[in-house]
Amino acid sequence: MRWRGQELGVADPAALPGLERLDGLVRSVTTPEFAGMTFHEVAAKSALNRVPASSAMPFDWTVNPYRGCSHACVYCFARGTHEYLDLDAGHDFDSQIVVKVNVVDVLRRELAQPSWAHEPVALGTNTDPYQRAEGRYALMPGIIDALTESGTPFSILTKGSLLRRDLPQLVDAASRVRVSLAMSIAVFDDALQHTIEPGTPKAQARLQTVQAAAEAGFRVTVFLMPILPHLTDSIPALDDALARIKAAGAARVVFGALHLRPGAKAWFLQWLDREHPELVSSYRGLYPGAAAYAPQGYRTWLSRRVRPLLRVHGLDGHDEDDSPRGTPVPGLAARAAVVTTSRGRAAADRLF
Ligand code: SF4
Repeated sequence: MRWRGQELGVADPAALPGLERLDGLVRSVTTPEFAGMTFHEVAAKSALNRVPASSAMPFDWTVNPYRGCSHACVYCFARGTHEYLDLDAGHDFDSQIVVKVNVVDVLRRELAQPSWAHEPVALGTNTDPYQRAEGRYALMPGIIDALTESGTPFSILTKGSLLRRDLPQLVDAASRVRVSLAMSIAVFDDALQHTIEPGTPKAQARLQTVQAAAEAGFRVTVFLMPILPHLTDSIPALDDALARIKAAGAARVVFGALHLRPGAKAWFLQWLDREHPELVSSYRGLYPGAAAYAPQGYRTWLSRRVRPLLRVHGLDGHDEDDSPRGTPVPGLAARAAVVTTSRGRAAADRLF
């Protein structure tokens, strides 16, 4: 690993934001409770990450308490970022988790700076803040507190049902700042979910989390993405997904086709060859060479298929292609806007 055996205090320009100093590693931990996983506890130098102006992301600030993600989604776009740590984008991404153990203290210090303009902060846009490690380290309650007390609006996007643990705190936070939450549920078939998102809670557990958030007064948006060509894009599959999303009390849906970015693409194609070899040639046709996005023709076809179903189920919906890359989806934060308490809704619509 790059940080091992290196000189203390030397900056590493290739390191991820917050991990630039090689002396940040506190210790590496394995425990029977998390068999097969290693947590690399680091003392981060920064907590707030400014999103580069060139980025397509419609938000300017993020906080990422973890690097790597035990949810282990085969298609995860963040896989490539693990290679900056001399870890691989495949199994290492799923099992070698970097934990910024001091993230709350650093965040509080940064939010207290006079220069902090209280711009919205997005959580869960790189790796999942409610992945399994959060059960051990419980960093999110401190992050939520720090953002709330500083008057900073924030959004959370997750696949983790552990979000339910923090719902009472989030309700309280939403009475003081704009809080937006999104639940990502892409695969509603349990057998497929088990192979392609092996570390995630089942769709039903995530739907129950959506329901709990809705009952707590939030307007919940579900991210129905990535939709997988030939695997989850049939009308019966989409109809079933939207019916269950509606029944859970979600207010909105954001949908989009699979992207296969560098790092994720090779890992995904290995999985496809193992699990669905009959689809390999079709996917190579849809995502040829270095192409990360499905062809416009497929995305248009998919949109025409989903929109009528959204109307049937009475759901407000957005295709991720509705807004040009780099511009916010109306009414949504971080493409992920999601949960807004009824008390804070009017203010929220002004903020995001
Ligand atoms: S939950 Fe999100 S961050 Fe984690 S592996 Fe899946 S797609 Fe990646």
